[in-house]
Amino acid sequence: MPVRIKTAYLYARAASGKRPAGYLEDVLSRGTVDGDEIVFEDAAYTALAEKYRTARVPAGDLGVAATKTPRPGLGKMALTLAKASARFAASGFRQVRGETLTARKAVCGACPDWDPTGYAGLGRCRKCGCSGVKLSWASERCPLGKWEVEASLSPG
Ligand code: SF4
Repeated sequence: MPVRIKTAYLYARAASGKRPAGYLEDVLSRGTVDGDEIVFEDAAYTALAEKYRTARVPAGDLGVAATKTPRPGLGKMALTLAKASARFAASGFRQVRGETLTARKAVCGACPDWDPTGYAGLGRCRKCGCSGVKLSWASERCPLGKWEVEASLSPG
């Protein structure tokens, strides 16, 4: 029986500092996106659970692991993700309205920095490294200022 996990939960785990660099990309690549969830076949989920039960690293060690890895930018991506997740949590995990999501998708879809095949079809912004899930978070904005935090969350 397939296992369904909220994408926001996976982001929170990745940002917790208790998972190694590359965790989110690895997990997303083994499931199928269905709305705000990722669906895993039993075997894929079992393999992931086994892998990350043994690959868990203590909080605080992530920086050391990221320094040793030859892939540049992972440390920055982890920091960006951690900050975005904190803002999302502070907003009460607020999702954008439908029209805002449609507008954001249109802007990103026309942007040369958008990779629609990234993160197993969720899409990926090459500027900040975030996945398409960010588009549905009311607390987020485009790093180039092409779209903003949803109006009701703006200061003032
Ligand atoms: S978030 Fe901004 S920079 Fe990134 S793909 Fe979308 S429009 Fe482009």
